[in-house]
Amino acid sequence: MGSTRDLDPSFRSDADDLFGLAQEMDGSFVITSGRRSWDEQARLYARSLSGESPLPAAPPGRSKHQLGLAIDIARLNVDPREDDLLEELGLAWRAVGGIWGGEVDPVHFEQGPQMVRETTRYDPAPDLAARKSEMDSVLRWTPLGSAIDWVRGLF
Ligand SMILES: [Zn+2]
Repeated sequence: MGSTRDLDPSFRSDADDLFGLAQEMDGSFVITSGRRSWDEQARLYARSLSGESPLPAAPPGRSKHQLGLAIDIARLNVDPREDDLLEELGLAWRAVGGIWGGEVDPVHFEQGPQMVRETTRYDPAPDLAARKSEMDSVLRWTPLGSAIDWVRGLF
């Protein structure tokens, strides 16, 4: 089962609200998928191509699940393509600016562009962050000219 725990911080509280609403409608709603690794996404994509899964999956590198910006929810023992409650949730989600998978992928709820409240998505990669703090210390302690040369040498 998925969880909202490791979702992107900019999405987690909206995802919790959505899942809370789903649970109020019917306690049998579960999160079937949250954040996915590259390998998980590749496996799901292969399953959707082979027809093993009735639901679509994006190729690895193209899914918002890999960024922690999407969750899938469904009711146990209810075909999601026939689930009226999912449709209600989907319409509510769209009304607050979210992206819902609709008929094609009714279990899928992802962050809409106008829902972003914090800019936590573009954290620099770790090596870049290390370089930046290196750069900061150099800029602080060396004359400007040599600091600029040093920064140029990085790129
Ligand atoms: Zn999904």
